[in-house]
Amino acid sequence: MLLETLQRYWGYDGFRPLQEQAMKCVLDGRDSLVIMPTGGGKSLCFQAPAMCLPGIAIVVSPLISLMKDQVDALKTCGITAEFINSSMSAEERLRVANEIRAERVKLLYVSPERLVQDKTIEFLKSLKISLFAIDEAHCVSEWGHDFRVEYRQLRVLRSSFPEVGIHAYTATATERVREDIVASLELRDPELLVGSFDRPNLIYKAERRNKGLGQVGEVLDRHKGESGIIYCTTRNDVDKLHQSLTEQGLKTLPYHAGLPDLERRRNQEAFIEERVDIIVATVAFGMGIDKSNVRFVLHYGMPKSLENYQQESGRAGRDGLEADCTLLYSGAEAARWRSTLDELPTDAAREAGIQSLEAMNRFCTGAVCRHRVLVNYFGQDLPAEQAESCGACDVCLGQLDLVPDALVLGQKILSSVVRQEQRFGADYTAQVLKGSKDQRILQNGHDKLSTYGLLANEPQKAIRDWVEQLVGQGFLKKEGEYNIVKVTPEGWALLKGSATPRLLQPAVTTKTKKQAAVIEDSWEGVDRPLFELLRDLRRAKADEHGVPAYIVFTDTALRDMARRRPTTLDGFRHVKGVGEKKLADFGEIFITCIAEYCREHTVAADVAQVDVPVKPSSSPKPARSLSESLDGASASAIGSFRFFREGKSVAEVAEIMNRAVSTVGGYLSEFIRHDQVTDPSPWVEPILAKQIEEAALEEGLDRLRPIFDRFAGAVSYEQIRPVIECLRIRMKGVSEP
Ligand code: ADP
Ligand code: ZN
Repeated sequence: MLLETLQRYWGYDGFRPLQEQAMKCVLDGRDSLVIMPTGGGKSLCFQAPAMCLPGIAIVVSPLISLMKDQVDALKTCGITAEFINSSMSAEERLRVANEIRAERVKLLYVSPERLVQDKTIEFLKSLKISLFAIDEAHCVSEWGHDFRVEYRQLRVLRSSFPEVGIHAYTATATERVREDIVASLELRDPELLVGSFDRPNLIYKAERRNKGLGQVGEVLDRHKGESGIIYCTTRNDVDKLHQSLTEQGLKTLPYHAGLPDLERRRNQEAFIEERVDIIVATVAFGMGIDKSNVRFVLHYGMPKSLENYQQESGRAGRDGLEADCTLLYSGAEAARWRSTLDELPTDAAREAGIQSLEAMNRFCTGAVCRHRVLVNYFGQDLPAEQAESCGACDVCLGQLDLVPDALVLGQKILSSVVRQEQRFGADYTAQVLKGSKDQRILQNGHDKLSTYGLLANEPQKAIRDWVEQLVGQGFLKKEGEYNIVKVTPEGWALLKGSATPRLLQPAVTTKTKKQAAVIEDSWEGVDRPLFELLRDLRRAKADEHGVPAYIVFTDTALRDMARRRPTTLDGFRHVKGVGEKKLADFGEIFITCIAEYCREHTVAADVAQVDVPVKPSSSPKPARSLSESLDGASASAIGSFRFFREGKSVAEVAEIMNRAVSTVGGYLSEFIRHDQVTDPSPWVEPILAKQIEEAALEEGLDRLRPIFDRFAGAVSYEQIRPVIECLRIRMKGVSEP
């Protein structure tokens, strides 16, 4: 029955981990506490059972924006949901009350302060209540990161409705908070369900911030036209970065607590409604943002703890599709955070702050699998099959450039620290190793040390970075006001040669990064131009209905459409995320759009589904295919190259590889670029190719559309593209002597 409900209203064909168990608790009326990371799919745990049980489900939610969002989302799925909060007029409240009395509402969202009012409790007592769901339940705990007094009063629910099950949901995992939730809500022998804190679809990268804006540009380039958040640590950084990006012609909006309320709200809405793709923000942004298709979260500075990082980066990829989480860190920032800790009132708080910061620092500089560091921090382990490689972080994907003789290098650095009697900081140590003529060094007689100038051939900055990495990996530690570096027990092990650090190559050249194969996976078979077209249509429909775009359809659904390209309602029904209501509301217009597109571009429609893995971790790629994907060619395209080398046509390759012709057309472009092919004749009739080239020389090579238009539909993009690709390569040869 649950599955049927999932299918019918949400168009989902299976459960996420723990969802089924959580839903069964609700059906059985057994109290539960469900802990899942952001994006784990908590909402469905109570929404689906609410549709199976008689009566009305009451959902407590702390944020008005979140409430409205969820209710809108439910309505577009054909579920009768309403909310009551302080932002409504008396009339509206009356309307909702009448709907409820007429038993036409299945889910009611209420703010905690309203719920605990006597008159609300009385009203609810007159109804048949199916369940209570307490969202963001950590708000009851002073130990949680978002304590709210009103949540404390929710304990009246137990005494007022002894026979109704109470279910608490949160993403905060600590033992303390858990106990608080159970005690404050008076949960009865609750089922405790703790999900995995790993988010396998997030691809983590951490880089030292050096080129700043350039590094931001690299991330943005990877995500043209996609939604993303750039987090900065200060308002000033937000303003500066927003301005620089604007000057570069990129459309972004700023968000921080220093902006006027109205502007802040407007910017947030513009992001949610997809009128702007990128928001540059402080951590003030994100609470209550339920947007599921955030494709990247870029940290322009290091957060002060891994809890923060988990939460902020967790706003990416809530739809389960891969998302890019890149963190740019700098030693200066770590030092700045450290100095803010001095303001903390107690020693214990300062100590806790330092530990958080050090864990964060180790995550950045440790050169250890980022997924592993994160889940370990939250007291969990990665599944056994990912012990070797998670397949979704820069470390495991081999994107870090490591120094080959890190042991010797590490020993040189540590022995200098020892010879300096462990009384100096990182900068000083680097200067000694570099052989600097700095006054202080000469005065201290450190130019006489055997380690003086030992790394004279390395850039000073690189040496400084290595010291930082050794700190990050626990071989050195910083102490006291002046951040003096000292050798730790692990450090002594390193000096004896029984432990090896990972040290990064100096970042002189940024060679083309290897791209994760997984990135291409969930795009497999997706017709990108069609996807873009459907995105526009989605935005138009969302505007029409006054809801955010991702509520109409998620990115997963759009990709699936652009992959299957259904032109019948029956075919459309099979698209992921299409339930009955969305089929009825949007089916016709979307299939019309798809059919038109396929006809115009001679792209195969109604493609039989090949199952595409969504989660990167569920299909770890052999390392070989990753290292092959150099030069920006996607892993999925590489398999086609040998056929193209044999001169096979796109249709033939599509047949062999069992892919859509349009997809293979894309592979051909990649092949041409990869092999630097200059002659398109294996794929396009030479006479036609000549005509296309002539048109291109007049219209320019940047855009295909004007060329396409010149032929008034007589020539397809599939024919134009390879000709232009080859022409571009020939032209490059001319312009670069
Ligand atoms: P959380 O509240 O835990 O942060 P949500 O409930 O907002 O997560 O769910 C995150 C996203 O995952 C939403 O877009 C939701 O529709 C989607 N989702 C949840 N459960 C499933 C499922 N069983 N199959 C497919 N998508 C799901
Ligand atoms: Zn990893």
